[in-house]
Amino acid sequence: MDLDVNENKRSIDLGGCTVTLVHGGSLRLDGGAMFGIIPKPLWGRSTATDEQNRIELACNCLLVEWQRETDRRVIVETGHGDKYGEKEQKIFGIDPSHWLLPALEALRVDPRTITDVVLTHLHFDHAGGLTHERDGRLVPTFPQARVHVQRRELEDARAGFGIMSGTYRDENLSPIDSAGGWQVHDGEVEILDGIRSLSTPGHTRGHHSIIIEGADRGLIYTGDVMPTRRHVGRAYNMGYDLFPLDNRDSKAKMLGLAARRDWLLAIDHEPEVPIVRVGKEKDWYELLDSDV
Ligand SMILES: [Zn+2]
Repeated sequence: MDLDVNENKRSIDLGGCTVTLVHGGSLRLDGGAMFGIIPKPLWGRSTATDEQNRIELACNCLLVEWQRETDRRVIVETGHGDKYGEKEQKIFGIDPSHWLLPALEALRVDPRTITDVVLTHLHFDHAGGLTHERDGRLVPTFPQARVHVQRRELEDARAGFGIMSGTYRDENLSPIDSAGGWQVHDGEVEILDGIRSLSTPGHTRGHHSIIIEGADRGLIYTGDVMPTRRHVGRAYNMGYDLFPLDNRDSKAKMLGLAARRDWLLAIDHEPEVPIVRVGKEKDWYELLDSDV
């Protein structure tokens, strides 16, 4: 699949509900931190690094539309956004001109028509596209949208709970505070008609994955419980995960559900093959090519 979905639009029909992959940018993070306890001779076989030992990650976002209700339009995840100075652009390999808003504009989607935004968690590379600077002040990117997140995650973001400094950023939160835009949820709930929360704590305490169900099929947006397809193995977690064992349980739960129902997975940071299926493999799971 072409990485740039703006030029090569990829939509999946789940039955009355269409999911379109939108490229919310890309970034580079240290390969060792991304693969936790796995030694580089193992993960390095299949994942290329640059001269600084960083690996390439995409920020895959989803646009969800319904064929009957044309006034409802949902974005899942907003990528890293464009609020980075030169130093951070270098550290993270971020191109600030390449983020969710221009990607949506290339698809002729007006941000004012987005009714809801659903986030798995509030780290900067997921919530950064929520806000941007316009006429010298920070404003919500989607001015009409309610922003759905777990209550636990929003509380932890405000308190800066975590081991990474600078990943929860006020610039991504306060414009939504001022607009009264948050809609918080507790646990596994129906967020919107056809969109549900699957609790997958571990990466953060309030992390959830997002289930989108059409008449014919379901799709799970993984979030950081499994950031790339290279993270499918039981022992694979990120050094950034706050609770690695919880994350492993969450990953087993998500993979088991997708395998049983033959649902699709949309993998948030996967740069090459973001849409996959899941099969059972001995006492764990393997990823299969998608059939869409
Ligand atoms: Zn994260």
